[in-house]
Amino acid sequence: MPNMTSESTADALMIEARAVKKRFGHNEVLRGVSLSVARGEVVAIIGPSGSGKSTFLRCLNHLETIDSGHIAIEGEALATTDAQGHCRYVAEAELRRICAKTGMVFQHFNLFPHLTVLENLIEAPMVVQGVKRDEAVARAEALLAKVGLSPKRDNYPARLSGGQKQRVAIARALCMQPDIMLFDEPTSALDPELTGEVLRTMRELADERMTMLVVTHEMGFAREVAHRVAFMDGGELITARPAAEFFADPGHERARAFLQHML
Ligand code: ADP
Ligand code: MG
Repeated sequence: MPNMTSESTADALMIEARAVKKRFGHNEVLRGVSLSVARGEVVAIIGPSGSGKSTFLRCLNHLETIDSGHIAIEGEALATTDAQGHCRYVAEAELRRICAKTGMVFQHFNLFPHLTVLENLIEAPMVVQGVKRDEAVARAEALLAKVGLSPKRDNYPARLSGGQKQRVAIARALCMQPDIMLFDEPTSALDPELTGEVLRTMRELADERMTMLVVTHEMGFAREVAHRVAFMDGGELITARPAAEFFADPGHERARAFLQHML
């Protein structure tokens, strides 16, 4: 683990969320969530359905706007809240540039059905980053090899298994060369026999020291791959402690009850 007490703490912090609040109408979905993630760290977020896990992840790359609190990515603020409680986002261009540092993988893959696997991968680099086609294809081919799907290069998503679709989705996110990967229940839509191949790909990324925030119900993955486990319940992040410590003793009654239910 990085040395969190050193002077360089600020630039080692890849994600910093402080007192993040978010409501949908009268429903206060995030009630002051704080979490910092260091470079190369893998943090698993667990917790019951409806506890705000997806919303929190979506706030980190501006798929949702927050009502108050602070969010910074690699030391650059997306949103800050002043003493009067006014929340301000940075300008649109800045926001886009900062959010490009994070890649996201969703439960339901969200591949473009009318594009081949290769086209799914090169679309965003070409359109969003202005990368030349040859370079985008080279990136895509390297990533397809990495996730073991080179032979599927010219297939359409409908021809792939769920596990293959999710590995394509991971490769597609990596094609944008993010520094941080956010995963929202990446294996929850998969048949049990297909989760292994996706978790293996994620484990390889973790071994390469990718910074990862992973919402998951896979306790084995959380225990073996995550450095820390964060438990959310009722819009609060109750605890975030080293994985071994968490599984030995989550330290909070609600976390203990949840864990008992999951294991
Ligand atoms: P989790 O991922 O932990 O299951 P979510 O973040 O998806 O939880 O949802 C937290 C709460 O926010 C739930 O009560 C959910 O119904 C609500 N919610 C999520 N997204 C929206 C939305 N776009 N509009 C209104 N309510 C939402
Ligand atoms: Mg969710």
